[in-house]
Amino acid sequence: MKKKVAFYTIGCKLNYAETSTISRKFSNFYYQHVSFKEYADIYVINSCSVTKNAENEFKRIIRSALSKNNKAFIIAIGCYAQLNPKKVYSIIGVNLVLNDDEKYRIIDFVNGYEHKQKYNNKKNYSYYSSYSIGENRTRSFLKIQDGCDYKCSYCIIPQSRGPSRSDYISNILNKIKIIFKKGIKEIVLTGINIGDYGKINGNSKYTFFDLIQSIEDNIKEGGRIRLSSIEPNLLKNKHIEFLSKSKFFVPHFHIPLQSGSNKILGYMRRRYKKELFLEKVKFIRYLMPYSYIGSDVIVGYPGETYKYFIETYNFLEELDISSIHIFTYSSRQNTLSSSITNGICNIKIKKKRNKILRLLSNKKYIFFCKNQLFTKKTVLFEKFSSDKNYLYGYTENYIRAKIRINKISILYRNTLQNVVLNKIDNKDGIVIVKKLI
Ligand code: SF4
Repeated sequence: MKKKVAFYTIGCKLNYAETSTISRKFSNFYYQHVSFKEYADIYVINSCSVTKNAENEFKRIIRSALSKNNKAFIIAIGCYAQLNPKKVYSIIGVNLVLNDDEKYRIIDFVNGYEHKQKYNNKKNYSYYSSYSIGENRTRSFLKIQDGCDYKCSYCIIPQSRGPSRSDYISNILNKIKIIFKKGIKEIVLTGINIGDYGKINGNSKYTFFDLIQSIEDNIKEGGRIRLSSIEPNLLKNKHIEFLSKSKFFVPHFHIPLQSGSNKILGYMRRRYKKELFLEKVKFIRYLMPYSYIGSDVIVGYPGETYKYFIETYNFLEELDISSIHIFTYSSRQNTLSSSITNGICNIKIKKKRNKILRLLSNKKYIFFCKNQLFTKKTVLFEKFSSDKNYLYGYTENYIRAKIRINKISILYRNTLQNVVLNKIDNKDGIVIVKKLI
């Protein structure tokens, strides 16, 4: 009988790309993929270390796996596993912890070809190409870069993911062609610091501009391409100009701000000031007025006084962006900010600030959508609502959209359809669209 194997991913798009690649290694007659909600013989959990919450979620997921099969073989991979293998191995239920190199040889460990170690303290920072093919098979996350050479004071990623390194342009072009050939309509170029794309074996071989130019010149057909998060100091005006004329890249930017106070940005060791961020947003809006611009902000960083928080709030309120992801600061061991003892915000204040910015983000997103009602867009339809009344998708500029199911629209899943944005559904804030004839 085939062994059942289930996967769970915590964290970023890169983790999703890697889980998917690793899960494909189990695609032969000895294993049957099952949903994580089901009984399995082996559970593989791809962990994250970015926040304390991600670590807690990892423990919760282990408990959930054990509740389905208390004799399951549980394998931990990913950032948290790589960062702290001994600690992860000590968590009840974990049978094996694999580092970043070993996780791509997972099948050898499962089949017993590799010696039966439980965890390995050695870190490995090779580059492994990865892309996801989700259950819906509509969108794929394609890894182009890994690791980070920056030293933002709060961030643990450089310790878990290692130095910045990239895939060859030729490999990326090949992968894009393969993914589009599989019928996937959208690819998200993913990495830890994609603006720093181009380092191979420690040498700068290409630039991010080389990559986007090569994609535009060499990809002849397929769907659309989206960029994941890019640092504001690495997003150059020539990139924005180029992307504004692209036939493949959609008008979508995610640019992490982290704070609207230059003082806090300095404490965080970010490599820009808020004025540069504003300049980027204005330039995007000038060339692509309807582009989606998302951002990340951390609240409650040590030293974020009321005055600095208000500075952030005021800056964001004025900023013409489409939405904000808000993170509550949590100290990560061995980061620069973990040793700060002054100016620590209490949890109540952090939660309040988080809520205030979430409300602001909602306001901005609704404004962004309202501004575009009755305009034409293209939606990639991805999944049905649980009651099967609607089919959901995203426009090129990342507006969440839905269409009522009828005998024609039911066929739209995994297709790009030209639509008009009709109205915002007050119940869920999703834009209802009508198909253009
Ligand atoms: S740019 Fe800063 S926040 Fe982003 S991964 Fe690198 S160190 Fe972390």
